[in-house]
Amino acid sequence: MKKGISESKVQRMRNIVKGDYTKSVNTQIGYKKSDKKQEGDIWEEKNKTWTIKNGVKQNISKLQGVRNIIKMPLTCPKCGKVMRGSLDSYHWKVDKYCLGCHAKKITRLRAIGKYKDFMKDIVKKNKLSEIKDLTIEFEEWLNNTSTFVTEAGVIEDWDGNVDKDKLRAKFKKELAEWKKHLEEL
Ligand SMILES: [Zn+2]
Repeated sequence: MKKGISESKVQRMRNIVKGDYTKSVNTQIGYKKSDKKQEGDIWEEKNKTWTIKNGVKQNISKLQGVRNIIKMPLTCPKCGKVMRGSLDSYHWKVDKYCLGCHAKKITRLRAIGKYKDFMKDIVKKNKLSEIKDLTIEFEEWLNNTSTFVTEAGVIEDWDGNVDKDKLRAKFKKELAEWKKHLEEL
């Protein structure tokens, strides 16, 4: 397998090419349904702190790593409350306001019945940008891969001797359907 592309991504591309594009969509949406975690929730799992940001489960330390350069101000620029603690710090890093402001925003959206639409929109945007990234990765992967090794260590030949143009066309067709699926959400 080509270095630099994670096994899970390869697996995802394989699913997409095989017409299994909904697998990855359903995994994340299904996750949220079953676990009742919502945008902005923060919880511990497997010794890590997680949140749902932009509709996607993310590791907070990962987010913090990227955004640590921006220092938290003493008070929330939105409500003026003194910022303290890791939750304020987290929301400062990702939302540029405090935990209280985030909670208010969610409450307001719920009150006017816009929360679901708001979340749907975020998930869609997120998925569309994921599709974009995936397309670039797919091209790289396709141009650098001759065999595919499954998670069980079995070498599959579905891409080994396959016409790359054909594979690319199939990939694009599946992505188009994935996009259509997203539009219909
Ligand atoms: Zn605030």
